[in-house]
Amino acid sequence: MGSAGTYTCKHCGYSAEWVTADFDFGFSGDVVTPIACPHDGIRQVETGLNAQDPDWRERRLEAYACPVCRERRRLWDRKTCPLCGQPSMDEDESDGFATWD
Ligand SMILES: [Zn+2]
Ligand SMILES: [Zn+2]
Repeated sequence: MGSAGTYTCKHCGYSAEWVTADFDFGFSGDVVTPIACPHDGIRQVETGLNAQDPDWRERRLEAYACPVCRERRRLWDRKTCPLCGQPSMDEDESDGFATWD
């Protein structure tokens, strides 16, 4: 059990590995978050926020630059595929819980 997993799109087959939970902290309390880029898929970005900032929860909802193309992207909603746009991404289950055929 952990805060990271693999998500796969049932529509186009895109998969993103080790997506953190809504946020994650480094050793220093830095906040990172997943964003959805239509070119580069789901990417972790360092927001520059720190868990000790009083308003980091709101500010993390702002757009952040994709680490690959540098376009500003929004927080991923954990459902919409960044490549095909379908709300068909699900967290993979390795224990046979998945229902696709
Ligand atoms: Zn897709
Ligand atoms: Zn990008």
